[in-house]
Amino acid sequence: MSVIQDTIARVRQLDVEQIEFQQAVTEVLETLEPTAERHPEFVKAGIYERIVEPERAVQFRVPWVDDKGRVHVNRGFRVQFNNAIGPFKGGLRFHPSVNMSIIKFLGFEQVFKNALTTLPMGGGKGGSDFDPKGKSDHEIMRFCQAFMSELYRHIGPETDVPAGDIGVGAREIGYLYGYYKKIRNEHTGVLTGKGLEYGGSLIRPEATGYGTVYFAAEMLATRGLDFKDKVVAVSGSGNVAQFAVEKATQMGARVITVCDSSASIVDEKGISPEKCCFIMDLKNNRRGRIKEYAQKYDCVCYEGENVWDVIRQQGIKVDIALPCATQNELNAENAAALVRNGCFCVAEGANMPSTPDAVRAFQESNILYGPGKAANAGGVATSGLEMSQNSLKMSWTREEVDKRLLIIMKSIHKACLESAEAYGKKGDYVVGANTAGFVKVARAMLAYGIV
Ligand code: NDP
Repeated sequence: MSVIQDTIARVRQLDVEQIEFQQAVTEVLETLEPTAERHPEFVKAGIYERIVEPERAVQFRVPWVDDKGRVHVNRGFRVQFNNAIGPFKGGLRFHPSVNMSIIKFLGFEQVFKNALTTLPMGGGKGGSDFDPKGKSDHEIMRFCQAFMSELYRHIGPETDVPAGDIGVGAREIGYLYGYYKKIRNEHTGVLTGKGLEYGGSLIRPEATGYGTVYFAAEMLATRGLDFKDKVVAVSGSGNVAQFAVEKATQMGARVITVCDSSASIVDEKGISPEKCCFIMDLKNNRRGRIKEYAQKYDCVCYEGENVWDVIRQQGIKVDIALPCATQNELNAENAAALVRNGCFCVAEGANMPSTPDAVRAFQESNILYGPGKAANAGGVATSGLEMSQNSLKMSWTREEVDKRLLIIMKSIHKACLESAEAYGKKGDYVVGANTAGFVKVARAMLAYGIV
């Protein structure tokens, strides 16, 4: 057996119940066979075996008290996966589905994604199985404080710099940062996604969604295409989805779908800038459900349905798909239906939203397929820019940060294409992203010796 197959088998044996982690490891390592052939020094130094083991994985108790005085206990996690090229960096997710497998899959993906951004950031991820839905502001604040009362021991501006992810937005980052500042008595760039008043960066909220659209635009340009007049399907209605809708619309597309975990809406007229503002207010301020959009704008709402199921069942034709909700939201059946109905470009705003079979369906049909670790890297890249501004004690303008984001997304796209070609898989963005990210991290690990 090759070192790659050996390593996959070992992860499956040791991390038996970590299904999502096994999926991510398999997806990445299977594309790395040619790197092992070309770099026997990586094999000799045990890089493949080492890269699938986190430097450190912490699990902790998070006790907190609700508004009625009842005590709750949640689990907190921080997985510091790899810091070969810079401090650990990656978001915090608050969602009931969070467990060690999900956090390890996200941390593992983050290692390669961060390497692609051109910035010096290692990979990590964290979170809790806490469900922010239906909680009061005070409950959210108390939970964030309880979470930080343990997390603070493990993080630091030169050690590990968390950010937001599902369920962790501006409000939560504010509470987390406020508590860190209080107990450490220091004002440093230990979290990104901060508010502008206390060290945040312009464009950070927009960055993942905008970056996904910039990446898709680069992919489209390789075939002489663009967003103008294209019909676009977006899933999710959170941070990434909102700004993917906004940017795709600015580029002339007609975005016809969004969803949350309880319903999907289809608006054939398109989600105009005004309607997009409604979604932002609904989700970020009023914390309401997406079915309110259908009531306000008189369009179809499919309760309990996922966007990709609706598109398949209703035979809806879309040109471009931007999955921006969560992992494994888009299965093979729905991928086949998208392709059959003429979809020619998929760019993943979410992490690992397409199941392995769905990825295969996209790749076999030869449509443009941009995996999350490349397409959604704009978020963490702009977090890197926030860290730079914090270190410099400066703030760049909106135009400056957006310009840098665009340059980074173009350079990620170029690196993917170049690396894919170098490894004999021209135009394959999965091979390109995995090999380019991996080789950079592997070279750094090699330089350190066995540590
Ligand atoms: P948010 O919490 O802001 O939004 C998540 C959205 O997805 C919500 O609309 C949520 O609905 C919906 N959703 C979650 N689970 C499901 C489900 N099972 N079915 C349908 N809809 C669902 O998170 P983000 O927008 O920040 O993150 C979305 C994705 O992008 C994640 O995969 C994340 O890891 C990835 N990502 C995020 C980055 C960032 O900068 N924020 C950076 C890179 C990647 P509901 O409100 O009902 O829960």
